[in-house]
Amino acid sequence: MENIDWKNIGFGYRKTNFNIRCWFKDGQWGPLEVSDSEHINLHMAATCLHYGQEAFEGLKAFMGEDGKVRVFRMEENARRMQSSSEGILMEKVPVDLFCDAVRLAVKENMEFVPPHGSGASLYIRPLLIGTAPEIGVRPSPEYLFIIFVMPVGPYFPEGFKPTELVIYRQFDRAAPLGTGKYKVGGNYAASLVAGKKAKEGHYSAVLYLDAREKKYIDECGPANFFAIKDNTYITPKSESILPSITNMSLMQLAEDLGLKVERRRVPVEELETFEEVGACGTAAVISPVKRIYDEDQDKEYLYGFDPGPWSTKLYHKLQDIQYGDEEDVHGWVTIIE
Ligand SMILES: *Cc1c(COP(=O)(O)O)cnc(C)c1O
Repeated sequence: MENIDWKNIGFGYRKTNFNIRCWFKDGQWGPLEVSDSEHINLHMAATCLHYGQEAFEGLKAFMGEDGKVRVFRMEENARRMQSSSEGILMEKVPVDLFCDAVRLAVKENMEFVPPHGSGASLYIRPLLIGTAPEIGVRPSPEYLFIIFVMPVGPYFPEGFKPTELVIYRQFDRAAPLGTGKYKVGGNYAASLVAGKKAKEGHYSAVLYLDAREKKYIDECGPANFFAIKDNTYITPKSESILPSITNMSLMQLAEDLGLKVERRRVPVEELETFEEVGACGTAAVISPVKRIYDEDQDKEYLYGFDPGPWSTKLYHKLQDIQYGDEEDVHGWVTIIE
C-alpha cells in the first residue's frame, strides 16, 4: 500500500483491497462474497440502469486511540436501506446481512482505516441495485448488494469552517409525496442542476424549501438542516426529507446537553431569528453556516463568521463518541473484531 497523506486525502473514490457482494436470486440472498474487482458485470437492460432501482447508504468507521475500529450506528443505516427498498420496490437486505457485510468490508480493508488523530475516517458505501433485464416497467426479481469502502480525509482539513447556502425557488429535489425520504440515486440526479448553479455562486449547497408551498425549510442537498435559538435545537419535520442519522444523534446529544429539541415545520422567515445554523450528515457531522442567501427575495441571513458555541459543542461530542474518546452511553458504536 502506498503512503497515504491522511489529512489531505479529501473525499473521492479510492481503490481499496476488497469489496463485499451479495446476490438476491431465485427468491433468496446468497452468501457474502469478497471481491477484488472494482467492476460489476451487469446486463444492459438491468432495472437500475433504466428505471432507477438503486438505493445507497453512507456510514463511517473510526480508529480509536485504543487501536479499536468503531462503526457508527450501522443498524440504523440497515433499517434506512430497508425503508428505501420499500419506497422503490426492491428486495430488502436483512439487517443482520447488512451488518455482517459492513463488518467484513471493514475487516478486509483494515489497513485503510486512517489513524486516530488524523481526523480522517473510513467511509463505507453500501449499494443496492436491481439487476434483472426488464424493459417493461416492473421491479427486478434479482438484486445485487455491494459494500465498498474508502478512506476519506477530515471534512474541514483547516478546521471547522462555516459555509454559505443558497435558496432557489425554481428547483425541487423531491416532490411532497415523492421519494425525498428515501436514499435513492434519483433524488441526487434531480438535484445536480441546482447544485451546479449553487457551486458556481460559491455556495456549498442549496437549501431546499418544501415543494408544495415554498414556505418551509426542507433540507440541504445532501444534508439535514438544524438551527439553534433560545436554548433550543430546531430541525424541520417534513415528508420529503431524508431522515439523517447524524441529525437523529444530534437531537439526542442536544437533549443530553440540556437543550430543548423541536422537530417541526420551520418557516423561511424564521431564518431571521436563529442564533446558529448548520447542515448535518455523515460526511461533515456538522457544517456550520455563516450565511444564507435567498436569491428570489434578494435577502441574506447572517450567522457570524465563527461556528456558534452549541454547534461546536455538539460537533465535538459526536466526534468524540465516534472516535471512542468519550463513553458511548447510547450504544451507538460497534467495535469491529
Ligand atoms: C445521506 C443524506 C443525509 C444525511 O444522512 P446521514 O445519515 O446523517 O448521513 C441527508 N440528506 C440526504 C438527502 C441524504 O441523502
